[in-house]
Amino acid sequence: MIKVHEAVKNGGIINPKHEVQILCGNCGYDLDESELNADTCSDCGEPLNLRQNTKIYATSVPAAGGSTLV
Ligand SMILES: [Zn+2]
Repeated sequence: MIKVHEAVKNGGIINPKHEVQILCGNCGYDLDESELNADTCSDCGEPLNLRQNTKIYATSVPAAGGSTLV
């Protein structure tokens, strides 16, 4: 399952758009949302141990205010 989080600006800090993929930590199976609460992985049958892969989108955030600092 991949959840996409839109970019947010929080107290002057920009948190870029990113996606979080939730996998079985044991076998890397891509879990569905409905499987997150299960005790065991439906693919490998091991006790579920979540692993998250975070991927930051490379696209730049539009410059606010029009000025560009180099
Ligand atoms: Zn698994």
